[in-house]
Amino acid sequence: MVDFIKELEKCTECGKCKEICPITRVREEPVYSPRSKSQLLKKLKNNEKLTEKEYDSIYLCTRCGICDDYCPEDIPISDIIQKEREIIAKKGEEPKKTSHIVNNIFEKYNPGGYEVSERKNWVNEELEFSDNSKIGYMAGCWISYKHPEIAQNTIKILNKAGIKPQLIDQEKCCGLFVTDNGHVDEFEEYAKNYMGEIKSQGIEKLIVSCPSCYSQMKHEYAKQYEEPEFEVKLSVDFFNKLLKEERLTLKNDDLNLSIKDGCHGKDASEAPREILEETNNGSKELSEEIICCGAPAGVKPLYPDISDDIGMLSIEKADQVSDEMITYCPFCLYHFEDVVERKKEDAKPIVDLTNHLIRLIE
Ligand code: SF4
Ligand code: SF4
Repeated sequence: MVDFIKELEKCTECGKCKEICPITRVREEPVYSPRSKSQLLKKLKNNEKLTEKEYDSIYLCTRCGICDDYCPEDIPISDIIQKEREIIAKKGEEPKKTSHIVNNIFEKYNPGGYEVSERKNWVNEELEFSDNSKIGYMAGCWISYKHPEIAQNTIKILNKAGIKPQLIDQEKCCGLFVTDNGHVDEFEEYAKNYMGEIKSQGIEKLIVSCPSCYSQMKHEYAKQYEEPEFEVKLSVDFFNKLLKEERLTLKNDDLNLSIKDGCHGKDASEAPREILEETNNGSKELSEEIICCGAPAGVKPLYPDISDDIGMLSIEKADQVSDEMITYCPFCLYHFEDVVERKKEDAKPIVDLTNHLIRLIE
């Protein structure tokens, strides 16, 4: 068990975390810096009352983890913020919107509270599945309810390579929002049951389309609960493998593309670049400067203006350097499209990588 208070003492106030944090990129107030957010743990542990700004600061965090990567002292800043949220939630003082979304996930298995019966509405007769396949597919919440064509196109690509996956009987949210908001203990039973359900279907490799589901199930479940007894693979990483094995062929295109990662799935981020290298002579990097879209972990519902401003950083950068932004995170896509619709109708297209590949498949 890491002693977070001891970790906080290592801080040299170098300011590197503040330079990179998406929140302080758009709101410069010192209280919003990752260092300031994390130091509030001492106040919470001492039962001292937080000011309104300090409270906001703890929830003004997408848990993108970039501060952890940049901190020269290796202070686990985003884990400390998760712990702070846990303390606040246990006192019954977390934001009402956060509690509402957490409840949606426990009760309806998705953050938006959409009907469970509508989750697989994207499945149609054109798509081929096999109940005996050892390869499973999990679309994730945002794709199931907001971008069903990504799930359909994923299955079309797999079918093209001769793979008929099976679906999870009762697909559920991976629970990233729940654990991001400090409900780690409460989520244990859900996570273990869900992993057991997937395993009981004979699935040995689970293809997931969302980098957040990938990271949550592969890394966070293993860190907090137990290692899944099946392999978790990000869809674009699996597509790259199929391309290398020549089980898929793609046309080249001459589009001027930029690429945007999500906060999660960094260990699979080479795959989309390799695919675009093959088909497009590469793409312009957006994630070097701006890693986060600004929406996750409650920032979008709680602080929509700040979330929009962070989203706009990537949208404007992509507009400057490319004709299309390619992303493979459905939550980034959902957020960017929402921002564009309300604030920048003339923005250039933002395209999911799976949808892009369908344009190129031969
Ligand atoms: S996890 Fe991301 S949003 Fe949160 S404090 Fe660190 S850099 Fe900022
Ligand atoms: S990067 Fe690390 S050491 Fe530097 S101010 Fe932030 S928390 Fe402190």
